[in-house]
Order: sequence, then C-alpha cells, then structure tokens
Amino acid sequence: MSERKTIVIVGGNAAGPAAAAKAKRVDPDADVLMIEQNEFISTGTCELPYVVSGEVSSHEKIVYFDAASFEEKKGARVSVRSRVEEIDRKAREVTVRNLNDDSTWRQRYDKLILATGSVAKSVPPIPSDATNVFRLKSVPHVVELKKYIEREKPESAVVIGSGYIGLETAEAFRKLDCDVKIVELTPEPMPQAEREIRKLVETTLEDEGVEFLGGVEDLESFVEEGRIVRLKAGGKRFEADVVVVSAGVAPETRLAQNAGLEVGDAGALKVDNAMRTSDPNIYAAGDCAEVVNAITLRPDYIPLASYARDGGYTAGENAAGGAARFRPVFRNASMRLFDRFYAGVGLTTAEAEKAGFAIAEAHATAFNRVHVMPGAGKVFGKIIFEKDSKRPLGGAFFGGREVSGYVDVVSTLIAHKLPATALAEAEYNYNPPLSPFLNLLTLLGKKAGA
Ligand SMILES: Cc1cc2nc3c(=O)[nH]c(=O)nc-3n(C[C@H](O)[C@H](O)[C@H](O)COP(=O)(O)OP(=O)(O)OC[C@H]3O[C@@H](n4cnc5c(N)ncnc54)[C@H](O)[C@@H]3O)c2cc1C
Repeated sequence: MSERKTIVIVGGNAAGPAAAAKAKRVDPDADVLMIEQNEFISTGTCELPYVVSGEVSSHEKIVYFDAASFEEKKGARVSVRSRVEEIDRKAREVTVRNLNDDSTWRQRYDKLILATGSVAKSVPPIPSDATNVFRLKSVPHVVELKKYIEREKPESAVVIGSGYIGLETAEAFRKLDCDVKIVELTPEPMPQAEREIRKLVETTLEDEGVEFLGGVEDLESFVEEGRIVRLKAGGKRFEADVVVVSAGVAPETRLAQNAGLEVGDAGALKVDNAMRTSDPNIYAAGDCAEVVNAITLRPDYIPLASYARDGGYTAGENAAGGAARFRPVFRNASMRLFDRFYAGVGLTTAEAEKAGFAIAEAHATAFNRVHVMPGAGKVFGKIIFEKDSKRPLGGAFFGGREVSGYVDVVSTLIAHKLPATALAEAEYNYNPPLSPFLNLLTLLGKKAGA
C-alpha cells in the first residue's frame, strides 16, 4: 500500500482553494491542508468595491466558504489565522505561527503549493498606520473600512491611484455621497489604458463629480493625533476624512524568496507550465506567480482572478500526481465606472510597441443600440494589430454593457490568431433595443482592412 501523501497549500483566497479542491479530487486519499493567515477563506475580492458602496449588503455575502464548510464540501483541512513563516526545503517542513496564541508549529509536506497572492503597494508619503488610511485588497480590509464609514460618516474621500481598483473605489465613495478626489502621479487616469480610453475615463469622472488631480508630484499628508487631516497635491490643500491607497499590487514572494526560490523576469515566482517553481516539490499559482503571455510568449505578470483559479487547478492536480499543463494566457479585464463600462484584452498599444511588434491601430465610435431606442449610447472601440499580418494583439472598449461581449469577440480572434479583418466578416445580431444596425466590430474590421 502506498503511503498517504501530504499536500500543504499556503494562502486560502482564490488560487489556494482551487488548488486544494483539485488536489483532493485527483487524490482523495491525500491529506490536503490549506493554511491562511486571515480569518476568511475563499472570498470574492473583485466584489470588495461593491461592499463599500453598499450594493452588496455585507462582507458575509462574499465569503463563499468558511473553514468548516470547505472541509465538509471539498475534503481538505483548513487552518485559518495561521501564518506560514518559513519553508525548510531540505526537511520538507513549514513553520506556521498560530495568530490566536502566537505559538508556532511545524508541518511536514510532500508537496507544497504557494498561493500567497499579492499585497497592495504603499505610497510613501501616506502613513499607512494613520487611523483613516485604508487599502482595499481583502475582506479584513473592507470590514475595517465599513466600520470606519459607519462610525465616522466621512464626507470627503481621497483615493490615491487611478487604476481600475482606484476608480471602482472612487465610484463607491461617490455613491455614499462623499466629495471624492483622486490623486494620481500620471497626468491622466487609468495610466495603463489606451490614450483614448484615458480621456473617456477623465470625462466620466468629471461628469460624475469626482475631482481628478493628475500629474501629482508634491503629495504630502498632514497628520494630527494619528489621523490625516489634510493632504497637499498639485499645489492644492484639502481635507480628507478618509484616504484609500490604491496604487496597484505586488506579488507576495517574501516567504518563497527567503527559501531561495527563483523569481522571474516579470517579478513574480518563476514557474514552468506545470506551475512548478525552481524546487520540484513546490508549486505556485495565482497573483504570486508569473504566467506566460500567449501573445509575446514571454513571462508576464497578470494578477487576475480567473488565472489564479485556473493556475490553482493545475498546481493542485500536479501536486496530487497529475500531469496538467497551464496554458499561456493574455489579459482580459473590465471595469464599471458609474453607468459606463471599460473592457480591454491583450496588449495595449504601449505594450505591443515595447514587445517589438510593428503595429497598426483602428478605432471607431458607434451606437450600441438603434439610436432612437431608450438607453442607447455611444461605444468607443479600438483594436491593435500587426501591420502586415493583421494579427490582432489587443483591443479596448468603453461604453455600455456590450463592451464585455465585444472584447470577448476580439479575445477569440487573438486566441485563434484570426486576422483583425475577420471582424468585418461575422454576421452580427441586430435588434433595436439590444444591438445596433451597424455593429462597431464591423467598422473596426473594415478599418483594419483599409
Ligand atoms: C478590489 C479588487 C478588485 C478586483 N477585481 C477583479 C476583477 O474584476 N476581475 C479579476 O479577474 N480580478 C480582479 N481582482 C484581482 C483578483 O482579486 C486577484 O487576481 C485574486 O484575488 C488573486 O488570488 P490569489 O489567491 O492568487 O491571491 P490573493 O487574493 O492575494 O490571496 C492570497 C492569500 O494568501 C494569504 N497569505 C499570503 N501569505 C501567507 C502566509 N505566509 N501564510 C498564510 N497565508 C498567506 C493571504 O492572506 C491571502 O488571503 C481584483 C482585486 C482587487 C483587490
């Protein structure tokens, strides 16, 4: 009889639970243990801004399992409020701190899966220990922020950073009737987006009464009795009842690096297509690990939930003895901004140029339904493609809910290396309250062929 395998997973949010559940399905006899430092596992991180705004009534709604229900439904053991502090690769043991009583214990493993995710970056002039400074990266963060909002009833909110999470956070505070300012280092919001989209985002913020302060290089905070009372940015001084720092995320690799595991060119844990790190007994998946970009075929860092889940499945299957391979991926991300939506796929113009492609672009604006129909509006679209082959490299849209469908059509073209001109060859659905007579994608396909 073969010995029972022990699989230990560090991190219990998205990649961790996917890995644990898959490992247990592949090897039901294995002892699978998932260790998480927070109180919560298996949470809907992407829903955090909607808990702030109140659209999702409580953080409890985005906690999809607790330790007991995960153990019961998935068969893996769970240890919460337990932080893995060290990996002893030689002994194949991890040292775990019990955060309830500060004691430590050692746990043996045959295979270890790191699903330690990412951490919110800090912005040095903003003291992260001030009582009115928050981040929005996890359920404990939103619990803390919601308590503060209920107790202090802030009237002014400042969001530092205007990536998609910063913008979603700004919207949430506007919905709470706060006076909202966004402070950003670059001149326009959403620095990673296409220039046309940045302009549309800026106009939307203006229309919705959010003040955008761009190109800020003089950010200063004034602290009294442990809280920020005022900020200075762009030569202006203003009050801030609440400050949310939203300056992006960085892969959480400290534990792995202390154990001597390799970090790749994209800055996260280097893994092969089996999600194995530089130690064959240790796997990594999710926001802490690199992926291969299917367009550039180079290592990349794309911290998104669906890749965390799928990478987790691959790591879990392989740790349990399987032979799964994780596919190269490309970004497909979206955001709601008040009543507008953004969706972008693949590379941006700047990324495509940086990767060395000779590119061309096509862009157009069209109605998303027949213009006389109630609720019809304009949608902007852009595709980026290789000049000679017309192979699509990326696309971006800003408009109504249809952007999600449009971007997925471009995603299909990218995945199957169909030319951008193929957009003009599809038959698009048409019905006045639902879709336009002339589809934006047809226009983009024609322009790509012109
Ligand atoms: C506000 C917000 C909105 C988002 N919206 C979207 C979206 O719309 N679409 C999308 O695709 N993605 C979105 N994302 C990104 C998505 O949430 C992440 O890609 C996903 O959560 C990554 O999952 P993960 O398990 O790899 O890492 P994480 O979610 O970072 O989880 C890692 C876990 O590991 C634990 N951990 C770390 N170190 C240790 C240790 N030493 N010991 C024990 N436990 C440890 C942490 O406490 C954490 O719970 C959003 C993210 C945020 C913050």
